[in-house]
Amino acid sequence: LRAVLQEQDKSDFAQRLLAWHEVSGRKDLPWQHNTTPYRVWISEIMLQQTQVATVIPYYQRFMRSFPSLSALAAADIDEVLHHWSGLGYYARGRNLHKTAQLIGQEYGGEFPQTLDEVVALPGIGRSTAGAILSIASGQRQPILDGNVKRVLARYFTIEGWPGKTAVAEKMWAYADRLTPHENVATYTQAIMDLGASLCSRTKPSCLLCPVNDDCSAYKNGVPTDYPHSKPKKATPVRTVRMWIIENGKGDFLLERRPPTGIWGGLWGLPEQALDEQADDWLLQHHWQALSQQALPPMRHTFSHFHLDIQPVHVKVDQNNGEIMEAQRWLWYKPASSKGGLAAPVSKLLEQVMKR
Ligand code: SF4
Repeated sequence: LRAVLQEQDKSDFAQRLLAWHEVSGRKDLPWQHNTTPYRVWISEIMLQQTQVATVIPYYQRFMRSFPSLSALAAADIDEVLHHWSGLGYYARGRNLHKTAQLIGQEYGGEFPQTLDEVVALPGIGRSTAGAILSIASGQRQPILDGNVKRVLARYFTIEGWPGKTAVAEKMWAYADRLTPHENVATYTQAIMDLGASLCSRTKPSCLLCPVNDDCSAYKNGVPTDYPHSKPKKATPVRTVRMWIIENGKGDFLLERRPPTGIWGGLWGLPEQALDEQADDWLLQHHWQALSQQALPPMRHTFSHFHLDIQPVHVKVDQNNGEIMEAQRWLWYKPASSKGGLAAPVSKLLEQVMKR
């Protein structure tokens, strides 16, 4: 029963799309006439990252100069690139020329007809290959360009970013399931058109959409939530131990921070890397602790990272540790000194004084 229902789904989706295309689809684009694999191929490559309206004059000029695969293969590369000038992404133009020559050598100038062979050609991905074989040769091959990904992600509410292989594979499976056995060429045009027109990225016109009855994202009122965008990288976390050295007068030891980096040039609490031995730091700086206590950790968030602070409160004898470098160290008197401390430092000192 499930298989029958799936079949039903598929033909409904395709039929509604085809009926819509009949009325509203684009049927007069230059590459939709005299369709040959060569003509479809050139249009598909030009349309990558470029709008239809921009492509049309380039396509027409290209076809006038290189009307066939053999004409392109025999052309001078500079001449080909000259026709590409203004379209950008010149690697595409170079690949076209290289591929035309390769088809001449390996396939006797006839565009290959199996998916594996076409995908193996330089500059042709799985979706472009599917488009060439379905549109020009009527083969039942699914496609999955950016527009189709958007339609499928919304129609089936497919979770996850399509840039991830597992998500893309799921989309390919759906694309395959929906592709009909008949009228494949028109179906391919139609689903691309739907994505390029009604099912637009930011403002889909769902009320006019031929498949809105079953579109999961539309029914749930969340079309623009799909497809999901690339997940943001987790904010990195840095860790540090901060020493709160307090003398018998209730002053706190501050150290001037290096001129660059966070809180550059300000006075802050002395720091030590968390993976270093705490006692080593005290020894190195000649502090003899009367008492030593780790305080609850504190997180301070900067624009591009979190700083996890492990504060340690140490009480020292007031005469302990003469400060030799006044430029670098100072005894901070909370009662009489004003401002100039980074937010987490003030916060930590306040906490300690309240204890
Ligand atoms: S109903 Fe809306 S979201 Fe769903 S496929 Fe149609 S246009 Fe896209």
